[in-house]
Amino acid sequence: MTEAPPGLLVTRDVSVSFGGFRAVDRVSLSIKEGSITGLIGPNGAGKSTLFNAIVGEQACDSGAIRFDGRGIGGLSPDAIYHHGLARTFQIPKPFAAMSVFENLMLAAPDQPGERFWVPVVARRSIDRRERQIAERAHEILAFTTLDGVADEAAGQLSGGQQKLLELARVLMSTPKMIMLDEPAAGVNPTLTRVLIEKIEQLNAEGCTFLIIEHDMDLVMRHCHSIIAMSNGRIIYEGDAAGAQSNETLLDAYLGATADA
Ligand code: ADP
Ligand code: MG
Repeated sequence: MTEAPPGLLVTRDVSVSFGGFRAVDRVSLSIKEGSITGLIGPNGAGKSTLFNAIVGEQACDSGAIRFDGRGIGGLSPDAIYHHGLARTFQIPKPFAAMSVFENLMLAAPDQPGERFWVPVVARRSIDRRERQIAERAHEILAFTTLDGVADEAAGQLSGGQQKLLELARVLMSTPKMIMLDEPAAGVNPTLTRVLIEKIEQLNAEGCTFLIIEHDMDLVMRHCHSIIAMSNGRIIYEGDAAGAQSNETLLDAYLGATADA
């Protein structure tokens, strides 16, 4: 018998507490390489905190996290980004005063110009590398339909364009997997369609996605599998059809609405 392949991203018993409050409670999940997985659940379920824990922005109380065959628990967010795991934020965090193009240049994982002192002989190869990064930035701007606003200050973009910019920035690292935190929230239907089309296109090229999203239509239609959280725990794992008829999940949403 052959064993099921381990997931690209695997967490085992990950917990995160704020003071005495456990926001993420022993979460174990496995994300299949090449999939689009939806992470759903009422507000306050712990979804964003789980994202933060996975990418090293939030310390875990306990648990193990593996990505692409190696343990990433305890690594810095930068190191994890370099390993090919990228995330976007629920609230976009661009460098508002910088241009859209500059925001992409800064997101390149290996910026040779970062070092202060470089031998003169190395300068030429650095210039070449910078040109390559600029070329890639232009390609990604065209791909994400942001080429028309490349020179505008990122802070001047609409909410929807800022969400696309978040995606564009992480693409600079050519990630193996992208975690998106509510990519369609507050985005108009036209830009949402663009966003979904880009996600599908990247997925067809092999990029794995884990997407926190409240738009059930989007989740049901575009996610291959679904994980639901409530009160820090996973309460459902399976397909979209099963999620729609799952009583525990329904109760979690109704409970959250009643609490609100
Ligand atoms: P979701 O993304 O599912 O809406 P979050 O992960 O943002 O949920 O939050 C989960 C719980 O943890 C919430 O009760 C929230 O108030 C709490 N929480 C999140 N971040 C912090 C923090 N930095 N300090 C204290 N409590 C937090
Ligand atoms: Mg959240």
